[in-house]
Amino acid sequence: MIKKGKVKLGQLDLEGALIARDRVGIQDFVLLDSHNSETAFLENLKKRFTEDLIYTYIGTLLISVNPYKNLDIYAKKQMDLYMGVNFFELPPHIYALADNAYHTMLSEANNHFILISGESGAGKTEASKKILQYYAVSCPSSTLLDTVRDRMLMSNPVLEAFGNAKTMKNDNSSRFGKYMDIQFDCQGDAVGGHILSYLLEKSRVVHQNHGERNFHIFYQLVEGGEEDLLRHLGLEKDTKHYCYLVQGECSSVSSINDKNDWKTVKNALSVIDFDTTDTEHLFGIIASVLHLGNVHFEGDSKGYAFLNSNAALRWVSKLLGVHVQVLHEALTFRKIEAKSEQVLSPFTVDHAIYARDALAKAIYDRAFNWLVNKINESLENKDSNRKTVIGLLDIYGFEVFTVNSFEQFCINYCNEKLQQLFIQLTLKAEQEEYESEGIEWEPVQFFNNKIICDLVEEKHRGIISVLDEECVRPGDATDLTFLEKLEEKMGNHPHFVTHKLADKKTRKSLERGDFRLLHYAGEVTYCVVGFIDKNNDLLYRNIKDMMRLSKNPIIQQCFPNSERDSRRRPETVATQFKNSLLRLTEILTAKEPWYFDEVLVRHQVKYLGLMEHLRVRRAGFAYRRKYEVFLQRYKALCPATWPHWRGVPADGVEALVQHLGYQPDEYKMGRTKIFIRYAKTLFAIEDAFEIC
Ligand code: ATP
Ligand code: MG
Repeated sequence: MIKKGKVKLGQLDLEGALIARDRVGIQDFVLLDSHNSETAFLENLKKRFTEDLIYTYIGTLLISVNPYKNLDIYAKKQMDLYMGVNFFELPPHIYALADNAYHTMLSEANNHFILISGESGAGKTEASKKILQYYAVSCPSSTLLDTVRDRMLMSNPVLEAFGNAKTMKNDNSSRFGKYMDIQFDCQGDAVGGHILSYLLEKSRVVHQNHGERNFHIFYQLVEGGEEDLLRHLGLEKDTKHYCYLVQGECSSVSSINDKNDWKTVKNALSVIDFDTTDTEHLFGIIASVLHLGNVHFEGDSKGYAFLNSNAALRWVSKLLGVHVQVLHEALTFRKIEAKSEQVLSPFTVDHAIYARDALAKAIYDRAFNWLVNKINESLENKDSNRKTVIGLLDIYGFEVFTVNSFEQFCINYCNEKLQQLFIQLTLKAEQEEYESEGIEWEPVQFFNNKIICDLVEEKHRGIISVLDEECVRPGDATDLTFLEKLEEKMGNHPHFVTHKLADKKTRKSLERGDFRLLHYAGEVTYCVVGFIDKNNDLLYRNIKDMMRLSKNPIIQQCFPNSERDSRRRPETVATQFKNSLLRLTEILTAKEPWYFDEVLVRHQVKYLGLMEHLRVRRAGFAYRRKYEVFLQRYKALCPATWPHWRGVPADGVEALVQHLGYQPDEYKMGRTKIFIRYAKTLFAIEDAFEIC
């Protein structure tokens, strides 16, 4: 039975929205009048932004503009409002996206993921926290599950403390990629979680550019650490004493309160079930890194490194649980195994600094991975009940600095891959589906960034392959020979240019040691200095052997014996990263996507391909379902289909929509599915269905 008034409501809402649009703009770009104009698109975003309306839809894609101020739109009452409501019934909100993914997951019993993309500083991490909070607050609750929920929420401040840092783009920039599965049981309770982390930017531990900081945890510990603890760790209560903390010349930042954050992190660690022994050892490791940075070498008459003052070294030795003599030797000599003999070869000062920094980076990086594993143990749900998941992907955003190095290369490659996934799952898949369903369709041209992904990752030919080859080439491989190889192999690629290959005009903007990639999000010039070293990521064998004998239980787990026994050459950093992104893409492709784009600046509208997305969406259909599924759900709305339709499902659907009075432009019948142009049309029948 259909209550007509209710069905009409859908249309009335739309009219109401049209009247209000002058002031607040259009809340779904698909409804924008000026067809496909970028100016109109931006105007609409701006109009809404000035009214503090930061969210706008393109169909089911949510766009957000960073407000850089706290808006009163995330309170519990807001969450309640969006719970279980149809996507387009209320103004666009991140809660609507979260809620829809959740309810679709429950009703269809399949896995989903929310992909958040945008430049560094756009608001991805904030968004992912809002989504997690929404699930934590709005899902059904029980005391047992409250623990899991608290732990999930508390994993954020911990991972941000250890994995985020101030950069020139963002005071709380993610320096690692994070993919979190939130697991739900069939009642919809959040019952567990699992985190995968991607390539931490460990070079930051030993070096920060001007205006940037090391990872937050170092400052939190030094500024906020209790006196007893600091004494136990041999630390002074002032960050200026630590070489690894002062290079950026901005230890304190007005937007960051390290003292308060320290308390939050300590509390979060206890919620996640870290006991005092764990935290003691963990902070011992953090402190040991600071002491390592203060180990200074001097050169003897032959230029070989030696250590004069041993205070810092003694602290490192104490905190890492390794013998001071062994540590001293590992930092100033390299052990070379020749036949059955072991020969000690002394380091120059530069070599010793290199070994020291490599150790600091390795310790921090491995401790970070240990931390993620430990959090995973505490989020693990051992119950074997069938679970569905919503995955949340929050990765470092695309970034361009004055000088861009190996780290930016990896980060931007990662963003390139996500853009590719986005294209495959939306633009391309959408068009292919219309084609395969035989729906009449004017194809929309869009830029496919696969060409750039291939340029970076293709086997034997891509930049990563060339880099790996140089890394294993015996003899005289350097960053510059790597660049030469690139020039040989990529010479005429439309997205690759170097000083040598550039035309006259471009050449002026390129140094000889640079290469430039034309990414989907803009041009980035990379300086090759350090590529070989960072990709090789060598840690001398005697240093590893020493760490394996450590008395610090966390370090023991971070340097397992199995590593020594393995005869294989470890994979390079870029290849490891490439493979982990490949696995991530596989994980995500197996799930239903929900998109969330963060817009910070005007040009992102272009680079994120939002106009193309809009064109595809506008030309397309908001909703589609297999005939069987559609009929099963709505058959009660039509006497001819209720209680059973005996004929072909497509005919049943046709009878049903005729009965509902659909206009010809509102829907199309494909080979296996019905396509409905406007979400409103669908909501009208959903509403009718509910009161039926
Ligand atoms: P990166 O790629 O560098 O990690 P990001 O996209 O994760 O960047 P965030 O750290 O989420 O960026 O956001 C940067 C800052 O912008 C936040 O610290 C916060 O100050 C502000 N911000 C982001 N989103 C919001 C929001 N919805 N409301 C208020 N402020 C916000
Ligand atoms: Mg972030």
